[in-house]
Amino acid sequence: MNHPTPLQTDRDKLLFTPGPLTTSLAVKQAMLHDAGSWHFEFNARVQRIREALLGVAGVSRAGGWEAVLLQGSGTFGVEAVFQTCVPPDGKVAVLSNGAYGERAVQMLLHARIPHAVLRTPEDTPGDPAALESLLAADPSITHVFTVHCETTSGVLNDIQALGSVTRRHGRIFIVDAMSSFGGIPIDFEACGIDYLISSANKCIEGVPGFSFVLCRRARLLACEGWARSLSLDLLSQLKGFEKNGQFRYTPPTHSLLAFEVALEELAREGGVPGRGNRYRANHERLLAGMRRIGFRSYLPAAVQSYIITSFYFPTDPKFTFEEFYRRLSDRGHIIYPGKISKADLFRIGSIGRLFESDIEGLLAAVAGVVADMGLRL
Ligand SMILES: *Cc1c(COP(=O)(O)O)cnc(C)c1O
Repeated sequence: MNHPTPLQTDRDKLLFTPGPLTTSLAVKQAMLHDAGSWHFEFNARVQRIREALLGVAGVSRAGGWEAVLLQGSGTFGVEAVFQTCVPPDGKVAVLSNGAYGERAVQMLLHARIPHAVLRTPEDTPGDPAALESLLAADPSITHVFTVHCETTSGVLNDIQALGSVTRRHGRIFIVDAMSSFGGIPIDFEACGIDYLISSANKCIEGVPGFSFVLCRRARLLACEGWARSLSLDLLSQLKGFEKNGQFRYTPPTHSLLAFEVALEELAREGGVPGRGNRYRANHERLLAGMRRIGFRSYLPAAVQSYIITSFYFPTDPKFTFEEFYRRLSDRGHIIYPGKISKADLFRIGSIGRLFESDIEGLLAAVAGVVADMGLRL
């Protein structure tokens, strides 16, 4: 680990990962302050952040939407939705094609909430026709959960198709948009979303510390008395904000200061479409460059998101991921291991404060490491 002095923070190794991500100097500098979590100035910032998130989502309080912030990483936000919003006699259908779908199943097991799982292979999006049959056959299912961009592989699930099936059957739709919200435009109404979960340190380009849930207010208010957890009680969290503007328990103050600046930077970049354009350009440059060097990507183009890309290990026996990773790190670039069960892959993210020039730098480093290791691709 290197411990840069404040003046060197723009020289950290670049993170080509799914989060935490490389952030801007201004986002990091915003944290050089102490803020009292009960102080009116800080509470006003929290309210502004909640408003701004609705704006990023393209929804409004007048339209019946709320943004609820919750301490902890993204996983805590997903678990809070299950713990709070599924009634005692509820049942959840989970579409799973990767580690985050499986994590949702684990949460439901821990909460002893009945569930049904629709699995597709890790390179295959969730199937709206299979969901249709499941919902038609099982009227006891009250909620449908899917991941939007399954960061395990980078595969994109069609939340509009899955959402319209869910809506047609009158069930409640929960979307884990952790690695897509802020980077991929999402039409909340067209997708029939009731609860969408994301976190501070992904496409909004803040630092870790909290998750947030964007939801229909009436849906959340209807969950009175259902919460199975004290600290993950999303409805009480909303009531806390409405009572005195505060988080119920100690908030990640520095992370919130950074997030406010991150939201301003998102707006300056042209909002979600502008940011999405940069991420897409990063991804396209990455994919073309890696192919030129001789790497093969895992997903078919039609289902590949521009958030993160999985590449097969080279077949040359001289390749080990550990050495490849360490040599890239020595050159200032941090990539990410694979998470797929059935194939040997590594992953490279295109999100965070990264530009095409950074992708060019990474590609040059990859080509250099391939040459240094004497790999035949
Ligand atoms: C990052 C991520 C999460 C949450 O991970 P945390 O480590 O808890 O922040 C959940 N779902 C998806 C799809 C993710 O990419």
